[in-house]
Amino acid sequence: MSILIVGASVAGIRTAQALRMRGFDETITLVGEEPHRPYDKPPLSKEMLVAGGPAAPVPLLTDDQLADLGVDLRLGVRATALDVAARRVSTGVGDSLPFERLVIATGVRPRRLPGTDRMAGVHTLRTVEDAVALRNGLVTARHVVVVGAGFIGAEFAAAARSHGASVTLVEAQDVPLAHILGAEVGGRLAEVHAGAGNTLLTGVGVSRLVGEDRVTAVVLNDGRTLPADLVVVGIGASPATGWLESSGLPIADGVDCEADLRVVGTEGIYAAGDVARRAHPFYGFDLRIEHWTNANDHAGIIAAVVTGAVPPPAQIPYVWSDQYGHRIQIVGRPVLGDLEHLAGSVAGGDLVAAYTGPSGELVAAVVVDDPRTLMKCRKAIAGRRSWTGLGLVAST
Ligand SMILES: Cc1cc2nc3c(=O)[nH]c(=O)nc-3n(C[C@H](O)[C@H](O)[C@H](O)COP(=O)(O)OP(=O)(O)OC[C@H]3O[C@@H](n4cnc5c(N)ncnc54)[C@H](O)[C@@H]3O)c2cc1C
Repeated sequence: MSILIVGASVAGIRTAQALRMRGFDETITLVGEEPHRPYDKPPLSKEMLVAGGPAAPVPLLTDDQLADLGVDLRLGVRATALDVAARRVSTGVGDSLPFERLVIATGVRPRRLPGTDRMAGVHTLRTVEDAVALRNGLVTARHVVVVGAGFIGAEFAAAARSHGASVTLVEAQDVPLAHILGAEVGGRLAEVHAGAGNTLLTGVGVSRLVGEDRVTAVVLNDGRTLPADLVVVGIGASPATGWLESSGLPIADGVDCEADLRVVGTEGIYAAGDVARRAHPFYGFDLRIEHWTNANDHAGIIAAVVTGAVPPPAQIPYVWSDQYGHRIQIVGRPVLGDLEHLAGSVAGGDLVAAYTGPSGELVAAVVVDDPRTLMKCRKAIAGRRSWTGLGLVAST
């Protein structure tokens, strides 16, 4: 029973590893568009960009681990189409790869500002090429503009600050991350930018970028003009499903899957990681999650399903972000509850926010620099328990 995995990042590589750990000893072919040895993406906006940080990406597995995995790894190869009936995937190098089982792990692609593709100095941040270009750009950049103050934008702003550049973040919402964390917590997190000497402009969008070959300024839609020699666009990402357009697979926001990650209406076709939308077993409704641990969890589920084992239990969504030397951790889904408790700050390394559902059960928490509290919150969420026993300090 051969398996073809498309996408050689966290979801794809970890699926291959999890299959081997479950004793799957048949052919695994792994096709990845990026030409590099598989690497981890979170450090691209963190260690790799902070002044004095390492220049090379963090590999997802060592040479020995890769050799032991025994996969037919085809890097620099893009899947271009899927024929479900013929059970074949076409690639950009002219192959037509047969499969018995298929894992779609193609992740997401960053959104760009229209008309800026060829303008030097304007970047998104998803690949090692992006990180290397930004790392080089930060050496000489004087005026950095970050479009979008979500996690990637905030992490980049923090890294740019460490190089001494003047940094302005431009955020369309009145409060960054308000749609995910609510205005109070989003506002509390955003205080860290000004505290570190960066400027945050909110409730304003970008009208256009100025420059012939190279960006020189950003014009906002309230008429203000910001000088810029380096612009990072962090305005979200879209599932990388273009290659599946003619496949007939159910695709809306990502590939539609059952709870066990089998693509709806198919046999032996799965999706994993950022590209997969599934009925989340803990919540009972569909979710597509762009978090590292989610991709890792999916790998374990697919390996179990393929080898006939019992899948591991559903994990509570979890994401972290490193900014200005602090680690922000979010567990659960804040949008499912009301903010019950908020204390501390990012700069103080002591922020804790707790969100509760209708019965007083903890549904989410935001915690800065306190892994023990995070762990307690995670357990309480998983057990649908109240937040009151957690011993949190009074709201401030
Ligand atoms: C800069 C950055 C920082 C991040 N920081 C954090 C963090 O701090 N915490 C956190 O939880 N998450 C973070 N994430 C998100 C996390 O990295 C992702 O959730 C995770 O990488 C998802 O893994 P994936 O394998 O599903 O997708 P991806 O890592 O996006 O990999 C998909 C792979 O598929 C390849 N591919 C796409 N289309 C094709 C095709 N047609 N044919 C062949 N190959 C194809 C792509 O080139 C890519 O290599 C960050 C992401 C980025 C970009």
